[in-house]
Amino acid sequence: MTSIAQAVESFDSLDPATGAVVGTHPVHGEADVDAAVARARAAAGWWDSLGFGGRAERLRRFKGVLARRMTELCEVVAAETGKPTGDAQLEVVLAIEHIEWAARNARTVLGRRRRSPGLLLANQAATVEYRPLGVVGVIGPWNYPVFTPLGSISYALAAGNAVVFKPSEYTPGVGRWLTDAFAEAVPEHPVFDLVTGFGATGAALTRADVDKIAFTGSAGTGKKIMAAAAERLTPVIIEAGGKDPLLVDSDADLDAAADAAVWGAFSNSGQTCVGVERVYVHDAVYDDFVERLVRRARAVEAGTDYGPMTMPAQLDVVRGHIADALARGGRALVGGADAVGDRYVAPTVLVDVPEDSAAVREETFGPTVTVTRVADMDEAVDRANDSAYGLGSTVFSKRRGPELARRLRTGQTAINAPLSFAGIASLPFGGVGDSGFGRIHGPEGLREFARPKAVARQRFPMPLALTSFARTPKTEALVGKLISTLHGRRR
Ligand code: NAD
Repeated sequence: MTSIAQAVESFDSLDPATGAVVGTHPVHGEADVDAAVARARAAAGWWDSLGFGGRAERLRRFKGVLARRMTELCEVVAAETGKPTGDAQLEVVLAIEHIEWAARNARTVLGRRRRSPGLLLANQAATVEYRPLGVVGVIGPWNYPVFTPLGSISYALAAGNAVVFKPSEYTPGVGRWLTDAFAEAVPEHPVFDLVTGFGATGAALTRADVDKIAFTGSAGTGKKIMAAAAERLTPVIIEAGGKDPLLVDSDADLDAAADAAVWGAFSNSGQTCVGVERVYVHDAVYDDFVERLVRRARAVEAGTDYGPMTMPAQLDVVRGHIADALARGGRALVGGADAVGDRYVAPTVLVDVPEDSAAVREETFGPTVTVTRVADMDEAVDRANDSAYGLGSTVFSKRRGPELARRLRTGQTAINAPLSFAGIASLPFGGVGDSGFGRIHGPEGLREFARPKAVARQRFPMPLALTSFARTPKTEALVGKLISTLHGRRR
């Protein structure tokens, strides 16, 4: 950290593996944030005027910069988060797919469409189109500092908005890199701008003259943002945390399920909003599944397969959840009480953990997973749904995948593969309950950043004037009769 006197104006971003300083960034205050939003508002008109085609062309230029300089971006991500560059590449690759999808589909999803005017107003031509909101404030987390914020930013830009982005204080360098890359592709106006700092900078952005806040982070911060945004009736989208379950049915491919559970729970050190935190396994295959899971978990190494905990404070949360689970009768088949080090956490598989303990109910956000035996898949669904969160879920079942998926109270479910929904650009992504609301990605993600504009155009006057003081009792009687003939029939 810089000295206290300087800290009010700038802050350091650190390599979580070593503590080394990797960059210094300004702490933007309210006046800076307001100025950035004002600049973005001036740029928004130009961006809107480009139309879908002009914006798609420029978004593709941006995409090209990301693709060509991917290695450089991955190094910045790895330095600030500690994740292996291969994992950084995965999130950049997926983000590029989303930019392309948003650019290609914005016109189809948001462009003007005719609607039926109905019989009574058959003289009208009815249309709806989705207009940009103006300026969208995006507040991001650190765990996927490219993929997650771009999931909002790409769709907001494709819909015709300007964006002011406040990245996490743990990954400001990634935010800087992204806005610089965009400015290289679109040098004309500051359509996608950056403000950096801590929570107070995010709070200033929430209070600023923005037309929507797209927030991704913890449920606690989401609640504060929603309360602050209420002051100006600024709409918000909240992408918050999760406690995602993975269900293993009696007919599941157990190797594939164990592989998915291990990757879903431990990759990115478990710091994934849709990471697997709980596993519910059918009694008939429980022992077999656990054996395969344990074998795989023992082969995963902290420091090689995944990096350190990006946020040091999270180490205490993970340690607390493991200790509580063990104190309440749980057993660690892999890892356990000693798994949490100074920076890294070793993979931990917990069984026999009571359902009301922190390790089952609260977001751990570390490389740990609980495994619970269930009598049947009805019990698995009930236990999976007994959570304040509802972000993602996974089902391994040969015969009942779609049925079980529908019954899970989560925004998205992957069947027979881990986290597959996040990479499919046409699918909406978001949560229910404490996981938030609103959707990014897909057509729903484009509409999230636009307002429907309805227009009714009269093509010719109606013989029966209804909305005029010239309306006669005869017209009223005729309309009454028409409606009772059309809608009043007994069925
Ligand atoms: P966080 O809530 O601590 O911070 C997120 C962002 O909010 C940061 O940029 C922070 O500076 C800012 N912020 C903090 N206080 C603020 C305030 N009062 N007003 C405005 N902004 C404020 O979350 P985090 O630790 O950075 O991220 C981890 C969390 O994010 C986990 O819960 C994870 O599950 C969740 N997450 C969710 C998704 C999703 O798509 N649903 C994706 C990734 C991460």
